[in-house]
Amino acid sequence: MTQKQLPVCVDHDHYPDSYIGGILRAVKTIAMVGVSPDWHRPSNFAMKYLQAKGYRVFPVNPATEEAEILGEPVYANLQELPETVDMVDIFRHSDAAGLIADEAVQHGAQVVWMQLGVRNNAAARRAEEHGLRVVMNRCPKIEYSRLSGELSWHGFNSNQITSRRHTFGAAGDESQSPGEPLSNPGFETRAIHAGATPDAVTGSRATPIFQTTAYVFDDADHAASLFNLQTFGNIYSRLSNPTTSVLEERIASLEGGRGATCTASGHSAQLVALLPLMEAGDRIVASTRLYGGSITQFGKTFRKFGWICEFVDMDDSHAVRDAVQLPRVKAVFAESLANPGGVVTDLEMLKAIAETAGIPLIIDNTMATPYLCRPFEHGADIVVHSTTKFLSGHGNSMGGAVVDSGRFDWMQNDLFPSLSQPEPAYHGLVFGETFGDLAYTTYGHAVGLRDLGPTMAPLNAFLTIMGTETLALRMQRHVENAMQVATYLNDHPAVRWVSYAGLPSSPYYQIAKHYLPQGAGSVFTFGIAGGFDAGIRFIERCNLFSHLANIGDTRSLALHPASTTHRQLTDKQRQEAGAGDDVLRLSIGLESIEDIIADLDQALA
Ligand SMILES: *Cc1c(COP(=O)(O)O)cnc(C)c1O
Repeated sequence: MTQKQLPVCVDHDHYPDSYIGGILRAVKTIAMVGVSPDWHRPSNFAMKYLQAKGYRVFPVNPATEEAEILGEPVYANLQELPETVDMVDIFRHSDAAGLIADEAVQHGAQVVWMQLGVRNNAAARRAEEHGLRVVMNRCPKIEYSRLSGELSWHGFNSNQITSRRHTFGAAGDESQSPGEPLSNPGFETRAIHAGATPDAVTGSRATPIFQTTAYVFDDADHAASLFNLQTFGNIYSRLSNPTTSVLEERIASLEGGRGATCTASGHSAQLVALLPLMEAGDRIVASTRLYGGSITQFGKTFRKFGWICEFVDMDDSHAVRDAVQLPRVKAVFAESLANPGGVVTDLEMLKAIAETAGIPLIIDNTMATPYLCRPFEHGADIVVHSTTKFLSGHGNSMGGAVVDSGRFDWMQNDLFPSLSQPEPAYHGLVFGETFGDLAYTTYGHAVGLRDLGPTMAPLNAFLTIMGTETLALRMQRHVENAMQVATYLNDHPAVRWVSYAGLPSSPYYQIAKHYLPQGAGSVFTFGIAGGFDAGIRFIERCNLFSHLANIGDTRSLALHPASTTHRQLTDKQRQEAGAGDDVLRLSIGLESIEDIIADLDQALA
C-alpha cells in the first residue's frame, strides 16, 4: 500500500469514520509494539482479534521471555522485522510512544496508531510531516467492530446511519464504495435510523424481534473469547440481545452518548447505573424532588446494600456543595424535569459542583426526553430513563435505559474500583483500561445485567424502538396540548395554582427556556381548591382522563399523588416532593385539545 490511498485527518479529537475505515481497509500488516504474551491483557485481546480479521500481526516486545505470541515470533524492535509493515500499533505509555513513532517513520510504515489512553501530539506531528497517517487514543479492535456493526451487541453508539446492510469486510478489502454517509444527521433522522441497519442476513428493514435466549458459538475458542470479553458478540440474552441493542444504540444516539444499557424498568436502570460506582458504605447525593418511587428505592431499599442516600434541595447550591463534602460521596443524582412538580433542575450548577468533587452527575431525563433536553450538552456524565414513559410512549411497555456520555475518566483515581481495578470475575481484566470510554456501558452489561438480571424483554425493546421513531412528533404535540391545558387551568376559579414551567408566571420559566427550549414537557401539577377530598372527587369525575399511576402515554392521565404514588412517604417528604394534599398530577396526552379541556371543565364544575 502507499499512503496516497489513505484519507487525511488533522483533528486528533474527532476522526471521521472515512479516515479510520480507510486505514483499517488499506492496512494488511501490523507491528504491535508492547503486545503482551499474557492472554489476560488487552493488547493480547487486540492482537488475537486483528489476526481473526485477516491482518498479519508481528509482535514487538523487547521485555518478554516468550519466543512467540499467538503463533508469531516475537521481535525486539522494528529493525528486526522481516518485512516493512503498513502500520505500527503502539501499546506503550504516551512518553514512550514518541520514540516508537519516530522508529516507525524510519522503518517506512504508513500509519502510526496509538492505543486507548496513548497520545503524543509532538510525535504525531513529526510522523505526519513525513507523510504518515496517525491515530491516537483509539483501539483498532473497537474501531473495526464499530465500523463492521459488531459493536451493537453492547449498545454502543456507532454513529453509523445507513439503509444498507453492513458491508465493512475483510482486511485489505477496498472493493466497496458506499456513498457518502450523512455527516451530521438530525434528531428525527437518528430517532428513526440510529442502531437499526437492515438485518445482515435477511435484509429485513424493520428490526426483528430476536426472541431467543442464547446464541451458538462457532467453536470452543470463539466461546472462550466471548466469555473473556475478548470478542464482541452475544452469549445469552440476560447480558445482551440484538433487538435490545438496537434500542440501546438508538437512545445513546438521541442523547449524544457513547453507549447505553437497557433494563427491564426505569427503577432497574437506576440500580444498574449506580452499581459500577457504589460499594457498601458509599453515598449518593440526590434531589428531594425525585419521582416518589425513586425516593423509596434510594432512601430505603438501597440502604440494604449499604448505599446511603443524602437527599438535598437541588435549588440550594450551598446545600448541594455541603452534601458532596460528606465522606464517600460517589455521585450526584437529579431529574432534569422533576416528576411530579414540573420543576427544572439547574444542570450546569450541579455539574460545576460534581466536577469539583470529582464525581459524576447522573440525570434522570425521563420527563423531558432527549427531544426536549439533552443533559450531556449541559455537563451530565450519565443519563437514566424510564423508557416506560415518553420513549415507548404508548403506555404498553416497561423499560429503562442507562446512557453514558463516555466523558468521565474512571481511571483518574481509586474512587471507582469496579472500573479502575482488576475484576476477579473476568480474570483480572480492568474495565477502564480495556474498554476506555466504553467501560461503563460494558460493565452495565457484563456485570450489571449479568449479575443483577433486570434484562429488557426483546418484545418491549421492539415496541420501544417503534415509540422512539415518532418521539419528535409526539413531544411537539404533548407540549402544545400541555401549554393549552396549563393556560386554561391557570384561569379557572377552582384552581389555586398551576406548576408548569412553560407558564410565564412559573418561577422556573426562565431556567426552562434555557434547558428545555422546545417546551417544558407535558406532566405537571395543579392545586385544587378544597384539598384532599376535592382532589379525590375531581379524579373520580374524569371521563377522558384515565386515573392511573403512569405518565407519558398517548392518553391523558390524572393522578392524586397524596392518595396513591406518594402515600408511602411522610407528610414532610410529600411536601418536599411537591405532592401535598391538594396536588393533582396531569400527563397531557395526544387527544383533541377541545376534548381534553372539556373533560377537565366538567370534572372541575
Ligand atoms: C416512572 C419513573 C421512574 C421509574 O420507572 P419505571 O419504569 O416505572 O421503573 C423513574 N424516574 C421517573 C422520573 C419516572 O417517571
